[in-house]
Amino acid sequence: MVLLVQKFGGTSVGSVERIRAVAQRVARCREDGDDLVVVVSAMGHTTDEIIELANEINATPPQREMDMLLASGEQVSIALLAMALHSQGVAAVSMTGPQVGIATESTHGRARILEIRTDRIITRLQEGKVVVVAGFQGTSQSSDGISEITTLGRGGSDTSAVALAAALNADVCEIYTDVPGVLSTDPRKVSDAQLMEKISCDEMLELASLGASVLHPRAVEIARNYGVNLVVRSSWSDDPGTQLTSQTARPVGHGGLELGSPVDGVEQVESQAILALSHIPDKPGIAARLFETLAEAGINVDLIIQATHRGGSNDITFTVDESDLDLASQVSQSVIANLGGELATEGGFTKLSISGAGIMGRPGIAASLFTCLYQQGINLRLIATSEVKVSCVIAASAGRKALQAVRDAFEVEDSQVVVNPPLSGEDEPEVRGVALDRDQVQLSVHHVPDRPGTAAALCSSLADNRISLEAIVQSERQHADGSRDISFILSKNDRVRADVALAPLLAKWPGASLEDSDAIARVSAVGAGMPAKAGTAGRMFRALADANINIGLIATSEIRTSCVVAEDDGIKALQVVHACFGLGGDKCRRAYGQ
Ligand code: ASP
Ligand code: MG
Repeated sequence: MVLLVQKFGGTSVGSVERIRAVAQRVARCREDGDDLVVVVSAMGHTTDEIIELANEINATPPQREMDMLLASGEQVSIALLAMALHSQGVAAVSMTGPQVGIATESTHGRARILEIRTDRIITRLQEGKVVVVAGFQGTSQSSDGISEITTLGRGGSDTSAVALAAALNADVCEIYTDVPGVLSTDPRKVSDAQLMEKISCDEMLELASLGASVLHPRAVEIARNYGVNLVVRSSWSDDPGTQLTSQTARPVGHGGLELGSPVDGVEQVESQAILALSHIPDKPGIAARLFETLAEAGINVDLIIQATHRGGSNDITFTVDESDLDLASQVSQSVIANLGGELATEGGFTKLSISGAGIMGRPGIAASLFTCLYQQGINLRLIATSEVKVSCVIAASAGRKALQAVRDAFEVEDSQVVVNPPLSGEDEPEVRGVALDRDQVQLSVHHVPDRPGTAAALCSSLADNRISLEAIVQSERQHADGSRDISFILSKNDRVRADVALAPLLAKWPGASLEDSDAIARVSAVGAGMPAKAGTAGRMFRALADANINIGLIATSEIRTSCVVAEDDGIKALQVVHACFGLGGDKCRRAYGQ
């Protein structure tokens, strides 16, 4: 027998007819003999409407009363769906979050799930009932022993469903929604965005802004961490939708379902070499030519970092396996011969990475990594960040010490540590999806001292003020006094707070100064096959160059290549990058019935 968790969002239960249609779908699965736990959101725009009501009564309503109010929306839909099932002859029972025993933190309005009791649901399933559970809500014990109603944060029903699937060890968790699944990019900006049949949770998290429009990111994190079989599909059709896969599967149990350590892997890759091209012209086409030529020579580049500098020149730094160093130097030399600029190369490095769901979204984790290395007196040569991974390139001689310190600091188990893993993603596409992030800004800190602890100090100051960073780029170029520049990409909304947070540090470093960019956009190509293939970056840069778009900053991580461009170029950049990887198609339009 198969246990299914199905979740229907607000639009899918937005009217009496739609609730009936959901009941019919559930009834069909029941006829197939499946056990079903059905999670529903509040009908249509109910949640928005009751929030508006509250605001009319009180501009700053108490959080506890807000949760009391918000939870009512889901209570309406569970009862109605259970009634609809009854009228179709299907035995069903509705349950609120507190009735099930979905224990959460006590933070009203954004509580994370700690634990889910499974016995009450299982008993009802054994009685042959479909269990209809209210999404988005849970309960926490107040100090005087009364159980309080909590909510998980807007869009939290997805999280409820996936957490229930994890706790119940369900065979599949299906999220029914009003789109056909996860698309290769935003269909409002790229008309031939295509439906994906499959995507890994890691890729989905890397495509954060794209993924978030389909699924609550916390739901993806839970699916990734506990290996939940997750499917996103349309409520209006029988099309299979998109399947989300995960390789990591820790057991549910210790430490709070949503609270486990965010770092669950440490990786070391030895024998790395750094090539740094500096003072090359800042104009479209240079990065394209460099990385195309490297790819033609069969060189697989790992990290790429490009930072712009005052005065209109660029530096591009990248890493390759040490065995490719000589060839990569020859190729780079030939490229800069006609352009001007200098090349510096150096072997003897190690890349050390931590991985886990939503690392960059949790301010403080990257900072802890940098602080841990700083405490060992280790200098960071390059930094690469992404949603699921933060990497540092350090001297090989410090590798062993660093690995030990990092695994202790993040308390990872032996089984979660890998040294020199084989390249992953042979059979995966090099790019599966492309996302555009706007409303971002680049902050550059010029003339920071080049010594251990600098990145740690900067990132800690930002983390202490709860400012999340999208990327951290430490440039290779040294100023005459030996100092360097570090840039951050962050949300426009955090810019002023970041300036304030960094001011005391800058005051301590002679000559250090802060520069804000104009509004920028970031285009990110993501694919699990990227590490195994040479030439992905070159193709992306070529597409941008051919569209005459200048790349301000390049930052890569294992399965993501991101380019920062002027905000006005954002949509064009998204379109050309999506097209250059052949991601367009008509499947999605067919799924929409157009
Ligand atoms: N009803 C809640 C909201 O609108 C939860 C959900 O729909 O996922 O945010
Ligand atoms: Mg939703």
